[in-house]
Amino acid sequence: MRKLVVDWIACDGHGLCAMAAPELIDLDDWGYPVVHAIPDDQRLLNLARSAIEACPVMALRMDTAT
Ligand code: SF4
Repeated sequence: MRKLVVDWIACDGHGLCAMAAPELIDLDDWGYPVVHAIPDDQRLLNLARSAIEACPVMALRMDTAT
């Protein structure tokens, strides 16, 4: 299983990632992402990649969940 990891220094909280992958990312009350583990599912992995590409400041990456 994988997970999305947020670089909190870079993230500016505009929420484009959540729009790209609403099944994987919620926004908190301040507009910052709350990420969920990514099940081993090709469609969701592709969705996670879309979220990474949607981030204008490259604050998202994918990592192995521990
Ligand atoms: S798109 Fe990038 S900068 Fe915007 S909330 Fe998501 S991780 Fe943060």
